[in-house]
Amino acid sequence: MSELLHEKPALRALCDAWRTQGHRIGFVPTMGALHAGHMSLVDAARERGATRVVMSIFVNPTQFGPHEDFAKYPRTLTQDLTLCEAKGLDLVYAPSVDTLYPAGFVSHVEVEQITQQLEGAIRPTHFRGVTTVVAKLLNTVGPCIAAFGRKDYQQWRVIERMARDLDLPVEILGCPILRDSDGLALSSRNRYLSDAQRQRALAIVTGLRSANAAYGAGERQASTLLGIVHAALVKSFDSIDYVTLADAESLVPCQERLRAPTVLLVAARMGQTRLIDNVVLGEDTLA
Ligand code: AMP
Repeated sequence: MSELLHEKPALRALCDAWRTQGHRIGFVPTMGALHAGHMSLVDAARERGATRVVMSIFVNPTQFGPHEDFAKYPRTLTQDLTLCEAKGLDLVYAPSVDTLYPAGFVSHVEVEQITQQLEGAIRPTHFRGVTTVVAKLLNTVGPCIAAFGRKDYQQWRVIERMARDLDLPVEILGCPILRDSDGLALSSRNRYLSDAQRQRALAIVTGLRSANAAYGAGERQASTLLGIVHAALVKSFDSIDYVTLADAESLVPCQERLRAPTVLLVAARMGQTRLIDNVVLGEDTLA
């Protein structure tokens, strides 16, 4: 039976007890509306040696901009708990907004540079919200291992940077993107899409797959690879926030001729829905 806790002291006490017993705690932070992609992070934490796994479910207001989908973000705690139960999670932590941000809250964690481009350029307060809540959750749970999806590639790299810079005693795992059989990356936001929109959204996968194939065939000109993705997206999406080639670790945008390991990242909008995806060229395969 997965334990469900809503309060910090109870969570801390249970995690303390597990550590005293010699357990290695794995941690998977989420915003809920769970799908198999989230659950693959639980597997990754276990494979890395976690003997207890904690998942948090918290729709974090501070990482949403004023015109974003915080109010309508799917909240499906009952179904989420059923999935957690089936997965054998040891503990689900679902705090309220007031629990994490009580009156008088004024402190934040800010990572510089790597947060400025891509998602950070479009969503200027997003990463400050993410790093603040993740730091708070890591401090309360005290895991050995915390698992993040490469679906949110920049988020994973930002958190890795935060952990390194602040000497957080936790190993940050970056886990592969889980995709549907047609290749679309699983995302809680996919449920906003109509059937017709979902079909059109596959243009992201087509674009990334074609660019990855061109890279595999030896193409190293950034403009050519970016052109392939633009051509695929432009017919299906209402607008494109970015299609960018960046250094796979620092996320500094690439020069025209690619050299170091490169990630190709995309964010595009269809109606009210914003989708992101990425591929590390020559390393990831898109089903
Ligand atoms: P979210 O609930 O969207 O904040 O996501 C929680 C965690 O699950 C983040 O580390 C995400 O990157 C990860 N995640 C979301 N979708 C996927 C996916 N399709 N494959 C792997 N990880 C994912």
